[in-house]
Amino acid sequence: MTLSFSVPGAPAAAVANGESFPVRRIFCVGANYYAHAVEMGRDPDREPPFFFTKWAETVVPSGTEIAYPPGTANFHYEAELVVAIGKAGRNIAPTVALDHVYGYATGLDMTRRDLQLVAREKGRPWDTGKNVEQSSPLGIILPVADAGHIASGAIELTVNGETKQRGDLGDMIWPVADIIAFLSNLYRLEPGDLIYTGTPAGVGPVVPGDEIIVSIAGLQPTAVRIGAAMTD
Ligand code: MN
Repeated sequence: MTLSFSVPGAPAAAVANGESFPVRRIFCVGANYYAHAVEMGRDPDREPPFFFTKWAETVVPSGTEIAYPPGTANFHYEAELVVAIGKAGRNIAPTVALDHVYGYATGLDMTRRDLQLVAREKGRPWDTGKNVEQSSPLGIILPVADAGHIASGAIELTVNGETKQRGDLGDMIWPVADIIAFLSNLYRLEPGDLIYTGTPAGVGPVVPGDEIIVSIAGLQPTAVRIGAAMTD
C-alpha cells in the first residue's frame, strides 16, 4: 500500500515586520490572574503555576471565522497575552528569561468549558476541553526588537461590542519571566513555541454569530467570529 497523504508543516503566524513565525508548540498557563482563579474556584495564593498544551495546528489568525466545535454547549472565550519564544533554553533563570522572548501578541484560548470542568472534577486530563480545533486565535506578533517588552497595560475582551473581560497584564500572578523559568524546568523551550499566559476574570460563553475582539495596549487586536457548527 502506498501512502498518499502528506502532513502539513508548522503553521505560520504573522509578524508585524512582515516575517512569518513558524509555530512549534503551544503551552498555556492556567489560572494566572487572581480574580479569574477565584471565579474558577481556585486558591491563587497556594498554587504554583500549572500548564497544559495544545497542538500547534489549533492556531488560527485574527480575522478567522471559527466553527462552533462539537461536544460542547458551553464554548468559552479567554483573552490572553501570547509570548512567542525565539531562543531555546532549559532551566532558564527568571533574570534572563525575557531574553528568550521573540515577541508578543494578543490571543484567545477558546475552551469547551463544560468538558474542562468535568475533567477537572474527575481528575482527568484537560485535552478535550482545551485542545480544540481552531481554538487558539492569534494576533500579529510584535517583535521585542521593534517594541520592547510588555509587562503591564490593559487587556480587554468584547463580545459584539460589549466588554466582558477587563484586566491589566501587571495583575498576572506569575509574570512572563517567571512563566518561562518554570516552564523551562519542565521542557527545553524552543524557537517557535508559543505561551498563552492566562486570562483575567470574566470568561463566558459564545454562540454562532458572536464577534470577539481581544485588545492589549500596544498590540494589534485579535478579532474572530463564531461560525456555525463544525461539520467537516
Ligand atoms: Mn487560558
